[in-house]
Amino acid sequence: MKFRIIISLSLLFLIYLFGIFVSINNVNQTTATLNRLLNLHKISDLRASLVHRVMRVNSDLYTVHTPYSQSLDRIVDNVDALTSLAAACTSCHHRPETLADLEQVGLLIEDFKKALSFYITTSADSRRLERLKHDASQVGETLLLQVESMAREASLGVERVSAQAFSEIQRSKNALLVLVALAGLFGLLIAVFLARSITRPTRALVAATRRIAAGEYGFALETVYREEFGELARHFNAMSLSLKNSYARLEGEVEERRQAERALRASEERYALAARGANDGLWDWDLLGNSIYFSPRWKSMLGYDEPDIGTDPNDWFRLVHPDDRQGLEAKIAFHLEGTVAHIESEQRLRHRDGTWRWTLTRGVAVRDENDRPYRLAGSQTDITERKKTEEQLVHDAFHDALTGLPNRALFANRVEHALLTAQRRPGFLFAVLFLDLDRFKFINDSLGHFTGDQLLIAVGRRLAEFIRPSDTVARLGGDEFGILLEDIHGLDEAVAIARRIQKDLPRPFMLDGHEVFTSASIGIALSSRGYEQPGQLLRDADLAMYHAKARGKARYEIFDKSMHDHSLAHLQLENDLRRAIERQEFHLCYQPVIESATGKLSGFEALIRWRHPTRGLILPSDFIPLAEDIGLLPTIGLWVLGEACRRLGQWRSLGGAALFLAVSVNLSGREFTPALVETIRKMLSEHQLPPDSLRLEITERTLMGDPQTSGALLAELKSLGVGLQIDDFGTGYSSLSYLPHFPIDTLKIDRSFISGIDHNRDNYEIVRTILALAQNLNLKAVGEGVETQAELEKLQDLGCGYVQGNLFHPALDAATAEQLIRRQSLVP
Ligand code: C2E
Ligand code: CA
Ligand code: CA
Repeated sequence: MKFRIIISLSLLFLIYLFGIFVSINNVNQTTATLNRLLNLHKISDLRASLVHRVMRVNSDLYTVHTPYSQSLDRIVDNVDALTSLAAACTSCHHRPETLADLEQVGLLIEDFKKALSFYITTSADSRRLERLKHDASQVGETLLLQVESMAREASLGVERVSAQAFSEIQRSKNALLVLVALAGLFGLLIAVFLARSITRPTRALVAATRRIAAGEYGFALETVYREEFGELARHFNAMSLSLKNSYARLEGEVEERRQAERALRASEERYALAARGANDGLWDWDLLGNSIYFSPRWKSMLGYDEPDIGTDPNDWFRLVHPDDRQGLEAKIAFHLEGTVAHIESEQRLRHRDGTWRWTLTRGVAVRDENDRPYRLAGSQTDITERKKTEEQLVHDAFHDALTGLPNRALFANRVEHALLTAQRRPGFLFAVLFLDLDRFKFINDSLGHFTGDQLLIAVGRRLAEFIRPSDTVARLGGDEFGILLEDIHGLDEAVAIARRIQKDLPRPFMLDGHEVFTSASIGIALSSRGYEQPGQLLRDADLAMYHAKARGKARYEIFDKSMHDHSLAHLQLENDLRRAIERQEFHLCYQPVIESATGKLSGFEALIRWRHPTRGLILPSDFIPLAEDIGLLPTIGLWVLGEACRRLGQWRSLGGAALFLAVSVNLSGREFTPALVETIRKMLSEHQLPPDSLRLEITERTLMGDPQTSGALLAELKSLGVGLQIDDFGTGYSSLSYLPHFPIDTLKIDRSFISGIDHNRDNYEIVRTILALAQNLNLKAVGEGVETQAELEKLQDLGCGYVQGNLFHPALDAATAEQLIRRQSLVP
């Protein structure tokens, strides 16, 4: 492009140079022509002057006679002037003929001058003078003619040269015009060319920059241009593209930043919301400047407005409860030292209304590169409610919900405390009283649980009247109460209180419109050297209480060591019993049941035996009640049922009359539950027994606990097809009205009635009545514990269908029983 412009401008310059040259040349030529013209005009003047001189000379010659001398001089002067004029007219531009003419004029003038001088010098002779005058005038005439012809010639020359000059001027004009036209045309071409090669891309560039300025980043120019503009377009496009990319990147970054800003704002808002929502106050302590920021919530939590609390850390600490302040400060100090990872402290703060509020302060320090803390910030939560709940929970955990008295745990705690005091102070004595209300179950059952509860509350209150504030009354559970008497002088003091209770407690309580009476059995345990655990004292007082109960209730007993020994043995037995099943220490004996009329074996009653590893054989009356108490009975009962069924199946497999054998199993009250139905069903199917080969013995006492429920359960059992017998009949004070509604088969008359039936009239009457009842209700009867022939005979007389007792067989082990089955020829 640069070269093109330079070449174009150079060309233009050359054209102008050429035009100037032509013009100068033309002007030069025209100037020369005009000079010649001037010379010609000068010659013409010369000629006129020459003609004038010649004519003067000639006229002088003829008009002047005398004195010649003066006239001659004038003539001579004129001739000399003529000569010089002629000489002046010699120039190269003359045509050759003109030059010749001029030479001739010079000669003539010379002759004329000679003639004149001759005339002047020879003035004496007049003729000669006349001739000379004539000659001279002749010459003058010739000269005039010559000059005239020359003048003609010259005027023609002037005309010619003038025409030539005009034509040259015209030519110069034309040349200049052409030149101007050419230069204009060429200039126009260059302008068009430059417009094409500069303006268009420039305009495109301007348009492109305008579009980019309008935001159209990445807009690209056409790359049709060559040279600089092409390069410019490429650079421009590259620039535009990089602008676009940068813009996109920038936009991306801006968007990222905007998003980050939005996220930050959201997070800040969330934080603010969370802080507000969390209901926590915030604090931020500038440790270097020792100023602290408390959030509005922090202040409002304590009832303060924004300006009430400044930025002084003391504004905080002065509100802390004096008992808690040291703890809080210590925790902060520990954390700042780096001993603990963060601050977590619970303390009371004074609310503006004067109350104490529990607050939980959490905080953590920010440390510099040298691990020096420079900022400490955290939160404050109002935990008053939680504390109250905790206190309530603690209270609940240590108090009885019904009476509000301390519970067993708190009582034990206080006893433990007393034990520790006794260890420190040798003379310190205390006593634990264990109270159990007599007949409480009866009151509860007869008057209802609500009255029962009211009674417990009232008893609690009354007991509290008997003691000093330093003593403790606690409800230990159910109808049991405990009293801790601290710092007494001796056992007498404890006994005196027990007596007062015995005396005052039976005063009637007015409960729900009823006058309720109660009494308590009390066990007393006095602190002594041997005790280390509160449980030991409680246990001994409890044991003493049991003895009081056993000795007739409504009395107190003081614990002594023999009670303990007894209870230890009991405890040992309990432990052994728990392990008896897994050690397979139980086995079953079978007492035959005899048909009284024929003496034939009708079946067996399964009776459990415990072969104790050290104590030998233990009978059921010595461990069944204990097993019931400690909840082992369902397990033992299940084993009995399984074992009896297994044995019966085994005997039945002997075939023959053994197929008609039946085994009865004793059930405890604990087993007599709806679950029993399913258990029996499984047993029967497991051992493939016909249902009527299994008989269940349930004591009258068990059935009468809840006759309605019992009736329903009996009906379910009956639907299985098993035999149902009432055991120990006659001892359970049963209301006979229920009897017809129980789907039972057999009454087993208790041994206490059979015994001495032959001579004991009462027993005889009772058995007779029972047998009559059985007969009326179409029930079978078994007389238990028949020991003598006389007893048997009486029973036979009274029509008792079945008997069992030592008269026939005691309870036999399984092998002996099987021998009996075989011996009785029941088996073929
Ligand atoms: P029970 O059901 O009344 O059983 C009869 C008891 O009288 C048995 O005592 C038996 O050995 C005893 N006996 C039988 N004939 C005579 C006799 O002629 N004279 C005397 N003095 N006693 C006789 P045992 O085996 O000691 O059982 C006592 C009680 O233990 C049973 O009284 C029964 O209530 C219970 N019992 C026994 N085995 C079990 C059992 O497997 N489960 C349950 N829950 N209780 C059982
Ligand atoms: Ca029985
Ligand atoms: Ca019995």
